Amino acid sequence: MATGKIGVTTENIFPIIKKFLYSDHEIFLRELVSNAIDATQKLKTLSSFGEFKGELGEMNVKVSVDKNAGTLTISDHGIGMDADDINKYINQIAFSGAEEFLAKYKDTANSIIGHFGLGFYSAFMVSKKVVIKSLSYKEGAKAVEWSCDGSPEFEMKEIEKAERGTDVILYIDDDNKEFLEQTRIDTLLKKYCRFLPVPVISGKEQEWKDGKYVDTDKDKIVNSSEPLWTKKPTELTDADYLKFYHELMPGNEDPMFWIHLNVDYPFTLTGILYFPKIRNNFDVQKNRIQLYCNQVYVTDQVEGVVPEFMTLMQGVIDSPDIPLNVSRSYLQADRQVKRISSYISKKVAEKLDKMFKDDRKSFEEKWDDIKIFIEYGMLTDEKFYESAKNFFLLKDVNDTYYTLEEYHKLVEAEQTDKDNTVIYLYATDKTAQYTYIKAAEDKGYNVLLMDGQLDPHIVGLLEQKNEKTRFVRVDSDIPERLIVKSDSTDAGLSPLQTDVMSTVIKTQIPEIEKTNFIVSFAALKETDAPATVTQNEFMRRMKEMAAMQPGGGFYGELPDSYEIIVNTNQPVVKKIVELATTSLENEVAPIRSEIETLNNEMTEARKAATDKKEATPDLSEKENKVSDLRKQEEGIIKKYADGQPKVRQIIDLALLQSQLLKGESLNAFIKRSVELL
Ligand code: ADP
Repeated sequence: MATGKIGVTTENIFPIIKKFLYSDHEIFLRELVSNAIDATQKLKTLSSFGEFKGELGEMNVKVSVDKNAGTLTISDHGIGMDADDINKYINQIAFSGAEEFLAKYKDTANSIIGHFGLGFYSAFMVSKKVVIKSLSYKEGAKAVEWSCDGSPEFEMKEIEKAERGTDVILYIDDDNKEFLEQTRIDTLLKKYCRFLPVPVISGKEQEWKDGKYVDTDKDKIVNSSEPLWTKKPTELTDADYLKFYHELMPGNEDPMFWIHLNVDYPFTLTGILYFPKIRNNFDVQKNRIQLYCNQVYVTDQVEGVVPEFMTLMQGVIDSPDIPLNVSRSYLQADRQVKRISSYISKKVAEKLDKMFKDDRKSFEEKWDDIKIFIEYGMLTDEKFYESAKNFFLLKDVNDTYYTLEEYHKLVEAEQTDKDNTVIYLYATDKTAQYTYIKAAEDKGYNVLLMDGQLDPHIVGLLEQKNEKTRFVRVDSDIPERLIVKSDSTDAGLSPLQTDVMSTVIKTQIPEIEKTNFIVSFAALKETDAPATVTQNEFMRRMKEMAAMQPGGGFYGELPDSYEIIVNTNQPVVKKIVELATTSLENEVAPIRSEIETLNNEMTEARKAATDKKEATPDLSEKENKVSDLRKQEEGIIKKYADGQPKVRQIIDLALLQSQLLKGESLNAFIKRSVELL
């Protein structure tokens, strides 16, 4: 028997391993099973090159729990190790600056293990003693037993072992008894070993007998050693992909489609990405992509590893270039991983582009469902935007789809304004904005439907990317002013009429909480509505953005601001204007001229003071007078307007059309309508 010291520079590495690697205890099983798989694969390789001439026999890995003995054993029939190998691979752990490193990374067990090739030693996280019994494949090799109780000393001796390969026997310590439960081991194997390339056996298949489940004689294989992504896409059917999907994501409805990644250069990468159906609400489950390294599960925390928009997808990615055993922050910083990420993004874009070109009709059918992925990608990934702009689709209110280029061509002629900006009109709700859509269409305009979750952001992005293009929501102005083609906007009212009518209208708008109105006049067609309510595009967008942010911010606090545009050519309005002018002129004109006189006096006084470089005289008396007169004027007009049910009626009609007439005001409107009839 030989004893010796394990070659680490830090005296007691094992207490450190135990203490600091606390959080991720369970990964020891992945490490040991991976080693067993490696040993198996290596022997297969040697055999295929004729360097191993013996019988391979059954090449599986077995994990067995012996509760009575308190052991967990991982056995393989791989290349095995002789005393020299053990010395070289197990006893000499290259380990420098251990304490410093551990202090730095004490929270991330994975990164330490990965960095220092501590894979095998992770066994000590859960064991009080570890024994290796191994027989090398080499001719004439002698079987050896190595054991270590967690101190830096080990023992090694020759033993009898009939079968080639290695048994690693863990004497599970008292704190980790859970790893002696078959169900716990099964769960772990399912998580880490589900797709390992060699059959992994753990326990027995069970059957239902005499009212309970009992073990049969048959070994239970826990993994599928040829998972779908390792096969050639040409050999697979849709049914295969769907079956695999449901294995990965039990309980989910069928995905829309999938992309099989199969790359040899510039790195090796395989995988299958599924596009799940995402309903319009944004309760998307992220982290549904699993990363594998040669079929060994690494993580499903893929943020920062795959392009952000792909976290909406589901599936698997396997690459030997994704470093196993490292923490997520390490993965995110890794250059290779970054390259993989942008490569995947490119592949996804290519696939979508191909789908679009090969079968546009079916692409359009899927569009409403996949749009959210594509928009997310365009918003978060500059390169993806560049490819996606060729297959990104705009849909109009009549369900016709256009590429960006097609749409620009379609509307360019009719919808370019006086500043040469092409205006894209859009609606966010076909039913609520029906009248506005109709009015725009009657003018020969096309109206897009932008009702998706991310559409407000996409509108901003497209405006930013495409100069001289602006999106305007159909209800943000009267049809005549949606696309301003010339400067003239004369409403045909005298200053007195404008003043009087503004007050007439303003005083009759019902009170709506947190809502402001401004009144304006436009000479529209006689047949157009007497009044229309619109919401300013800019303010609306700001408020929408604010609503998406927690707290709402500055714009969130502001009231909603609408414009009531009165059509001065509409016959009823015309009558209202005439009547108001004749009824109020005599009373209002003298007040107006008094205000004018006072205003002129004040202007002159200010001017004289400035000319003489004197301080402005106290004009507060005159100012107060003006404000009193205004109040008086407003009072007179309001009293008059209160007796004009038709004024209320045209305002209410406009409010009704934009869904702003509610509760008491709606009730009053109905009553008044009946009376007017
Ligand atoms: P790594 O696997 O990262 O190289 P480990 O500490 O897990 O680090 O293992 C060290 C080495 O010990 C392996 O590279 C391998 O040569 C050898 N080894 C470990 N387990 C086995 C096994 N079951 N069969 C044969 N060799 C093994």
